[in-house]
Amino acid sequence: MKEFAYRRATEVRDALTLVAAGDGARYLGGGTNLVDLMKTGVEAPARLVDVRFLPLDGVREAADGGLVIGATTTNSDAAAHPEVRRRYPALSEAILAGASGQLRNMATVGGNLLQRTRCGYFADPSQACNKRVPGSGCAAIAGEHHNHAVLGWSRHCAATHASDMAVAMAAFDAVVHYETLDGPGELPLAEFYPPVGDTPDRETALPPGALITAIALPGSAVSPRSRYRKVRERASYAFATVSIAADLDVRTGSARIALGGVASRPWRARRAEAVLREGPLTADRFRAAADAELSAAEPLPGNGYKVTLARNLIVAVLTELADRAPA
Ligand code: SF4
Repeated sequence: MKEFAYRRATEVRDALTLVAAGDGARYLGGGTNLVDLMKTGVEAPARLVDVRFLPLDGVREAADGGLVIGATTTNSDAAAHPEVRRRYPALSEAILAGASGQLRNMATVGGNLLQRTRCGYFADPSQACNKRVPGSGCAAIAGEHHNHAVLGWSRHCAATHASDMAVAMAAFDAVVHYETLDGPGELPLAEFYPPVGDTPDRETALPPGALITAIALPGSAVSPRSRYRKVRERASYAFATVSIAADLDVRTGSARIALGGVASRPWRARRAEAVLREGPLTADRFRAAADAELSAAEPLPGNGYKVTLARNLIVAVLTELADRAPA
């Protein structure tokens, strides 16, 4: 591992100033992804600015009836918080599905949003990867890509986003709050991850040097019967093959659906949501919603199975939510 300097920030402004000073400085949260990548040479920051001790942890009530989760809250604390479990159960389920207890105890909510793809070529500095080295090519598209994207990918990169938590937050219309030296800002999660296009190395819309301070879950998205379901290649922890966060109001047909494991970012299933609003909520309607969403899929030669899997998962979870609804 390349040598690096370490600084522990105690004030947000200190952290911003230390990163703005350059030298390839990076914020350090739980380190559960960044430090792994430093060991393999994929990441080589000259300085780490530790933000875990900033006063940004905890879950608090928002004025609109929602919740605000501080960026340095651990994944364990966010998943276990009684109000997260009560109002946004799909978020708690997504975090619990994401990693082992040891990792959840270290990983922060802000860091979770910023984790890098688990594409094997990205993790191997000997391979061509436009995300790691812009313009170097993409070894995955002609290579091993069975777990890559089927929606919204480009010829420059077909990697998927690794976060389960972000999928649930996309379904709940979460808003990311951040701080810069010029002042605070916010980004709806729908805009937080830009389309991959020809710049797969640009993974978020955050301004340079911005520090995530909190994630707000709107009160309008409270859904005590929401659900997160994840298909993975083994029974123990693994990144999603396909996952879904969903809630469904059976009286109105209003639904919030986001998919994981299928795109470079959490994939909000707006086509499926539109079909559900046309009602009535029958098994045929659920199948039509899934078909509408997957009609945009463009699988690679080795991952067409994900289209079938995503379709079946959408139908299964919508059916479960409808069956669970009070009569
Ligand atoms: Fe790199 Fe993306 Fe291609 Fe993977 S899919 S090798 S991350 S450019």
